[in-house]
Amino acid sequence: MRYNSPLADLPVEFVGSFPDPTHRLTPVLPEVVTLGRSNVGKSSLLNAIFDRPLAKVSGSPGRTALLNVFRLPTLYLLDLPGYGYAKVSHSERARYGRLVKTLIEQRTTITGVLWLLDIRHEPSVDDLAYAQQMEKRQLPILVALTKADKLPHGQRLSRLETIARQVGLPEDQVQLTSCLSGLGIVELGESILAVANPSEAT
Ligand code: GDP
Repeated sequence: MRYNSPLADLPVEFVGSFPDPTHRLTPVLPEVVTLGRSNVGKSSLLNAIFDRPLAKVSGSPGRTALLNVFRLPTLYLLDLPGYGYAKVSHSERARYGRLVKTLIEQRTTITGVLWLLDIRHEPSVDDLAYAQQMEKRQLPILVALTKADKLPHGQRLSRLETIARQVGLPEDQVQLTSCLSGLGIVELGESILAVANPSEAT
């Protein structure tokens, strides 16, 4: 389905999957990280924003700690596998945690983070830990609240307020989204482009 996202017509090239979160990319371009719990709706949302299947829905989510890199004309998208998958081993979970920590602390080329949270669920322990790390580095974060269509209209804004408070972000950094209705898809596309070109942001 087309939602007129500004990223829909841009060329996107898969650069590769890298186990090292500090892997250098050339040329250097602004980088936007996408992360969220497994099953949060990340593949669906990326597919809607880019209007094409970007990230293949994995059969065993969360099993590999790899940085998946896509290149757009003006930026890289660094897509992290979903976290919090129940069947992942303790060591794999720890490996993933280290990947994110190192990425956030050491990757100086990151210009923004698109962080996905399911509108129906309370942020998990992992969610809050990553939020704290990102805020410590003062990375610009945009939260996409996914699957907003699953709640009646009247409950969406109050969930937005609650989740914004829980993760310690202003409400204008939290966006309601739905891949079914297209809610918030254009706004997310615009935000990704704006984060990569801060001087052009209004
Ligand atoms: P990922 O594991 O984060 O990549 O999640 P997926 O994109 O695979 O989505 C997980 C499940 O949520 C799938 O069954 C999707 O169809 C469903 N889903 C994703 N986005 C939405 C949405 O906006 N609305 C609804 N109702 N379901 C969604």
